[in-house]
Amino acid sequence: MSLAVTLPAPPGPYLDSGLLPGDFYSYQDLLSAPEREVVGRLRDFLRTEVAPIVNDHWARAEFPFQLFEGFAKLELLTWADPQSAEPKPSNLLQGIMALELAHADPSIATGFGVHSGLAMGSILACADEEQQRRWLPAMSRWEQIGAFGLTEPHGGSDVAGGLETTARRDGDEWVLNGAKRWIGNATFADLVVVWARDVDTNHVLGFVVEGGTPGYSATKIEDKDALRIVQNADIVLEDCRVPEANRLQHANSFKDTARVLRSTRSGVAWSAVGVMLAAYEIALQYAKEREQFGRPIGQFQLVQDLLVKMLGNATASLGMMVRLAQLQDAGVYKDEHSALAKAYTTVRMRENVGWARELLGGNGIVLDYNIARFVADAEAIYSYEGTREINTLIVGRAVTGLGAFV
Ligand code: FAD
Repeated sequence: MSLAVTLPAPPGPYLDSGLLPGDFYSYQDLLSAPEREVVGRLRDFLRTEVAPIVNDHWARAEFPFQLFEGFAKLELLTWADPQSAEPKPSNLLQGIMALELAHADPSIATGFGVHSGLAMGSILACADEEQQRRWLPAMSRWEQIGAFGLTEPHGGSDVAGGLETTARRDGDEWVLNGAKRWIGNATFADLVVVWARDVDTNHVLGFVVEGGTPGYSATKIEDKDALRIVQNADIVLEDCRVPEANRLQHANSFKDTARVLRSTRSGVAWSAVGVMLAAYEIALQYAKEREQFGRPIGQFQLVQDLLVKMLGNATASLGMMVRLAQLQDAGVYKDEHSALAKAYTTVRMRENVGWARELLGGNGIVLDYNIARFVADAEAIYSYEGTREINTLIVGRAVTGLGAFV
């Protein structure tokens, strides 16, 4: 008799070849045929190039730099090159791409989002035409990688009022002094968008600091237990001089920073849906294969309850995000719309990864079974780009007309 241990094969987040497995109400049908083709190409790349390597890189806390070449070949950002004739993708397509990225791996989705949403997004929203022509072509081809430096050691939730990094004008230059914390991609970024307070006007301004500028240094934050693949850094700016030409010409106050965050927050909410769907698919696969009491655990009512609650969370969240994308396309969405989406979907995401982990029993804490990484990573997604409390307060202020931040 063989004493070899037989366990269910580790479930993965890809159940079938559909564009969005777990898309119970077929929201994918709202994409046009060419959009579905774009998502299909991204999904194939994520399935073949990303899914097989992420657990290993997560364990070693290393970024798979070879992916930049693959992302460049997919040409997902080339529309942002000012010389390109391509139209900007619809918000639904951009959202579903963020979903697919997080469905494969939340760290890779975060690195992608920091570059494309936070860094390129700041340049698209706040740079003048000459600056856009200077930075966006190489960034859209992934030849130059961006980061976004807003959060500080003393200024997280309160960064709008509490931002301490200073900018002092000195002739044709600005002198930056201060510290930033948690800045994704910053250990290797070519360009970092740094937000600093003008000492003369007290307004928050945006600057592009090029890697290697004297006075700029970035040190990796070690030993994180979430999004381990993302290279987050502590940045120090010590009499760091940047030319006036590197000041984002249309960033005049924190309201302009908030314009960038409004759109990236909805991207994070889309990512949360990707995590929810991955958790559901992993749990469903395991429920069909794992046997206890002489039958697949998926045959127990309590297990089906978990699966259906997960599917309900993902379906409700996806519906919310599809409507948000329509509001974005129509140009009528507001800060509180994306804040509600971020707060709501990340709570649902946390429930889903917890239930999926529960359903996998002990194997749920083993990296190879794929859910443990999502459980850990969900914690960071829950807190970044505004915690649940801060996004709740943004919505609360909008609906009551009463600010309750302090
Ligand atoms: P704090 O602000 O110290 O909050 C601690 C707790 O207090 C939270 O629960 C919060 O909700 C609560 N709290 C605070 N104020 C209130 C209030 N008024 N009412 C009720 N509760 C309150 N930043 C960047 O600029 N660039 C990046 O690329 C970036 N990447 C990140 C990646 C990761 C993995 C992480 C973890 C963070 C990243 N951040 C980045 C920073 C992120 O946006 C902040 O962590 C987040 O805004 C929360 O700030 P904090 O961690 O300082 O928490």
